[in-house]
Amino acid sequence: MLNGKVALVTGGSRGIGAAITQGLAEAGADVAITYATAAARAEEVLARIEATGRRGLAMAADAADAEELRAAVARTVAMLGRLDILVNNAGIAPYGPLAKVSPEAVDHTLAVHARAAFVTAQAAATHMADGGRIINIGSSLAERVPYPGWTLYSMSKSALIGLTKGLARDLGPRHITANLVHPGSTDTEMNPADGPDADGERSYTALGRYCTPADIAATVVHLAGPAGRNITGAAITVDAGTTA
Ligand code: NAP
Repeated sequence: MLNGKVALVTGGSRGIGAAITQGLAEAGADVAITYATAAARAEEVLARIEATGRRGLAMAADAADAEELRAAVARTVAMLGRLDILVNNAGIAPYGPLAKVSPEAVDHTLAVHARAAFVTAQAAATHMADGGRIINIGSSLAERVPYPGWTLYSMSKSALIGLTKGLARDLGPRHITANLVHPGSTDTEMNPADGPDADGERSYTALGRYCTPADIAATVVHLAGPAGRNITGAAITVDAGTTA
């Protein structure tokens, strides 16, 4: 389905990003990933890409650093020959009482979630062939915030709604689609399904269960493939019904 395509997944060293990487490689794409510090984890993901018969590339690139992101895009094109699919997934989970959130934390979170997605999409679009795909990973907390302590995170993820719709308009003439996938509670190191808050989060879902990283990856692979050609500017929520 994605044979001959090249993807770049930010934050591909573990969790949802690693599952998206696996899904894209299994669908036939060569996949480059970025990570912040987990070089050994990224090498494991690389080995799994290569086990599918596809080419991989792992690069350290801090999502808070626009130059490192631009360099990662350029290196993907230089090493893998082209760029067809960008997944802006790298993320952090600042959480805590409103009164304790510093202006520096606001700037950093907006840089990692919003500015990074903007800069990487902007750089990727200059290389992307017509018919490319940009997929941003948001959060169900961008739609509704059912518990306190997440104001900054929610604000940073809701910025991706405007980014995605704007990209859909700017890049539509080249048949490049831009979409947003909002995961709900998903079993990763960021939010383990057996963590201290897990039972509470589960109780907000309609289905009574966490998502797996593979659940999120399946929607991303659908959007990246030919079946996604007329989906653009959309937000798709995969949250076991938390926002139902
Ligand atoms: P995770 O397990 O903590 O993995 C985070 C990934 O992002 C890792 O690959 C990490 O790299 C990378 N990363 C973090 N900060 C970075 C930075 N400054 N520069 C570059 N890479 C960075 O998280 P996850 O649960 O898979 O989350 C993935 C995305 O889904 C995030 O955007 C998150 O907000 C979103 N999301 C998650 C949930 C959930 O319940 N898990 C729910 C809604 C939305 P290293 O391995 O090098 O640290």
